[in-house]
Amino acid sequence: MENIGHGGKEIVERIMPKDAALKRLAEMKAAKAKVLDVRLQLATEVIDIAYGFFSPLEGFMTKADVESVCNNMTLADGKTVWSIPIVFDISDDELKKSGIKQYDEVLLTYTGNPFAIFDVTDIFTLDKKEVAMKVYGTTEDKHPGVKRTYEYQDKFLGGKITLINPPKIKEPFTRFWLTPKQMRERFKEKGWEMIINHQTRNVPHTGHEWLMKGAYLGAYGSMMVDKPRGGVLVNAIIGEKRAGDYIDEAIILCQEAQGKHGYFREDIFLTTCSLWDMRYAGPREAVFHACLRTNLGCTHHMFGRDHAGVGSYYDPYDAHRIFNKLPKGSLNITPIFNLDWWFCPVCDEVTYMGLCGHKDKKASFSGTLIRSIIQDGVKPPRRIFRPEVFDLIMECAEKYGFGSPFVNEQYLKNRQPVFTIEPLK
Ligand SMILES: [Zn+2]
Repeated sequence: MENIGHGGKEIVERIMPKDAALKRLAEMKAAKAKVLDVRLQLATEVIDIAYGFFSPLEGFMTKADVESVCNNMTLADGKTVWSIPIVFDISDDELKKSGIKQYDEVLLTYTGNPFAIFDVTDIFTLDKKEVAMKVYGTTEDKHPGVKRTYEYQDKFLGGKITLINPPKIKEPFTRFWLTPKQMRERFKEKGWEMIINHQTRNVPHTGHEWLMKGAYLGAYGSMMVDKPRGGVLVNAIIGEKRAGDYIDEAIILCQEAQGKHGYFREDIFLTTCSLWDMRYAGPREAVFHACLRTNLGCTHHMFGRDHAGVGSYYDPYDAHRIFNKLPKGSLNITPIFNLDWWFCPVCDEVTYMGLCGHKDKKASFSGTLIRSIIQDGVKPPRRIFRPEVFDLIMECAEKYGFGSPFVNEQYLKNRQPVFTIEPLK
C-alpha cells in the first residue's frame, strides 16, 4: 500500500468515474431517488470526504462516531484519533418532506446540480450543548465553533458519500488546490521525503517567514545543499470567512510570493490550499490539522502560539500540550512547536523567544500592529513586510477585495465562489 493516511489506512477516494456516474444518475432518477440540495458548508465537506482530506472517514459521522469523538477523541473504533465531529444536519421539516429513511440512497445536489450519492445509514439527534462543551470547552455562543454547533438543524444523517460530479475550482485557487493524492505526487516529483506543514489564514509578514524558516532548520538542519529532500508546505485554509479576516486571494497569492521572490528557495517551498471552515477549537483543532496534513502526506506540522484559538478560550500553548496527552503512535506526523518570533531593536533582527535576551525591548508582530500597517498602505520596512508581498496585498485588495485586503460585507456578498458544481452531462 502506498498513500497511507491518518489512522494507518490507505487514503480514501470515493469518486465515481464520469460514465458510471451518468448511468447511476439515470438509474436514480428512474427509481425516483430522494434528492437533497445542500448548502456550501456541507458541499465543502462532501468534497473533503470524497477526496480523502478526512481519511479514514468515508462519509458523515454516525451517532456512535460523534459520541466517541466528543468523549474519547477517537472514532467509534476506539483507536483512530479524531477531534472534531463531521456531521450532516437536516431540519425535521426537510427530513419529513424528503421522506428520507434509514438505508436510503439519496442524491445530493449543490446549486441544483447533481453532486454526490449519500448512503444514509443513521438518522439521529444530538445534545448540541454537550457537543459544544466537549469539543470547544465552552457553551458560549460567542465562540464561533459553538455558534456553528447551535446553528445546526435538529436531525443528523450519517453514512458514506460518493462524489459523482467533481467540483470546478475557480481562479485564482485552481493551481493551489491539490487533492491528497495529487499532493503526494507533487512531493514525489520534488523529491521531498520530509514535508513541514505551515497552517495559515494570514498574509505573511517576516514573523511568519521566520516561523517557517525556524521550523525548517529545526526539522532539517542536516540537509545537504545539492539535493534538497524536503521543504515547507504552506497549506492555507480556505473556507467560511468572518469580517476582518484576510481575503482568501491575498492569503494564497502572498504566501506563494515568498517563494517567487526568493525568500525561500523555490525547490524547498510550495503553497497550496485546502477547503475547511475553521472551528477555532484550539487544541482539538490542532489535532484535526495534524490528521488533515497527515493525509496530505506531510511528515511534520508546525503549531504556533494559540494555534486555531479564538478570544481567550484557550491557553496560548494548550494546542501544544494536547499532543502529549495522545497515545504514543496514534498520529503519523511529528509536531513542531513554535514559540514567539518578534523584532528586537537591540539584536536588530527578527528573533525568537527562545534566543533573544531582550524580552522587555521586543516589538511583537501583534495582529493590531500588522493590521494598522496594512491599513495605512504606506510601505513598511522590509524587515516587517517583504516589499513584493506588501505590494501584492494592495493589488489583491483592488482586484478581489473591493478595495480592502480584509473581509467586509461587500466581499462576503459578492466574492467569487471558490468552487462550483456544473451540470453533469
Ligand atoms: Zn534581542
